[in-house]
Amino acid sequence: MPTVAGLGEKASDVMDHASERLPGAASRTFAILLSRLPAVDNRPGLISFLIDGAGEGKPGGRPAALTDAALRGRLAHFDAHSANEIAAIRKALSVENGTTTVYENWGALDICLRFWYGFVGSRIRPIESACEACGQLNRGSVGGSVGESFLRLCRCGQVSLITVPNHMPASAAPAR
Ligand SMILES: [Zn+2]
Repeated sequence: MPTVAGLGEKASDVMDHASERLPGAASRTFAILLSRLPAVDNRPGLISFLIDGAGEGKPGGRPAALTDAALRGRLAHFDAHSANEIAAIRKALSVENGTTTVYENWGALDICLRFWYGFVGSRIRPIESACEACGQLNRGSVGGSVGESFLRLCRCGQVSLITVPNHMPASAAPAR
């Protein structure tokens, strides 16, 4: 019997864990694909996520990226992921372009999307910035806490430090 779960066992561990949490037939398991984006100026990139909603015949949300803190908050929120699983996720994402998949049970795709895109405190929002060198307007949907910063690489090669702005929309509508 293995004492340490290797990377090869991770997927089945996650699946077992997911099925334990299945409360009823109304719930479905969604795959959330996480990828570490390329480093910028030797600083680790953001983490992109994609919710696999193919089973319901509609796209699983628009492309978006999270800061590490924003991902941690989501994974910890319902206590749905074990410490071992979170450690395995962190390890997989510790390398540039590292990818992993987490599984979560939700009643419907919409509820899963609302959680991942509308998470209180690090809601996914379009963040625009003008490149300091060439003036190009760059934008991307990012989930991060107000005041957190990340680096953005412009096509011209200029790196800008972007700080998550402090404008929280009052609307409770899910970000779609
Ligand atoms: Zn530029």
